[in-house]
Amino acid sequence: MTTFLEVEVSCAVCESRHKHTRLLSTSSFGPPDLDTRPAPPARLSLALQVQCCPVCGYCAWDITKAPPEAKRVVSRQDYQALLRDSRFPYLARMFLCLARIQEAAGNLSDAGWAALYAAWACDDAGVDFTAAAAWCRKRAIALFVKARAKGQPFLPESGAEEALLADLYRRIGRFDEAEKEIQRGLERVSSDLLRRLLAFQRRLCRARDIEIHRMDEVPEVIPEDDV
Ligand SMILES: [Zn+2]
Repeated sequence: MTTFLEVEVSCAVCESRHKHTRLLSTSSFGPPDLDTRPAPPARLSLALQVQCCPVCGYCAWDITKAPPEAKRVVSRQDYQALLRDSRFPYLARMFLCLARIQEAAGNLSDAGWAALYAAWACDDAGVDFTAAAAWCRKRAIALFVKARAKGQPFLPESGAEEALLADLYRRIGRFDEAEKEIQRGLERVSSDLLRRLLAFQRRLCRARDIEIHRMDEVPEVIPEDDV
């Protein structure tokens, strides 16, 4: 069940007050995609996970809070141009703006997730936004790789970050880089499910498959030549 609440909030950047629909809770029925995207109805509440101030354009998970860098980033011309960039659907622009602020604040894991959510928003917007989705995935990869280099985890389990990066690379057809992440993941993974997931990613990469796949497609048993 998905529940909402209409609340009046004060923007942490410009202090203007306005109404927002807040997501209180949601759930999902069915397996997620390989990149962690949940099944409906949680899948459909993507638009409620980002807020944008209609006055200054500040974008955040919660606009009543802002890192110290937010004001400076929001006032920049390139930020405002991104918020109006029609190459991306509006929802994706909000997530990309959120990513830019979190990156400036040094929260690289958060920034990476926001860029991935932007990619999902592009996927939902149809074939006209295929290039935009690929751009967002490249951005998510860059941010997650940077997060990893700085020792900021973006998924808790050993091998899970590599499985996510492999999926991001695979979806944009960069199979060699996906393969490197799969190898790296297999070297450190401890859970059986993640090991099978990485092996499944390898099979998809070898088949040059760039489509969306779900966790229920991960085989119960890994053929030996996939590991
Ligand atoms: Zn504002």
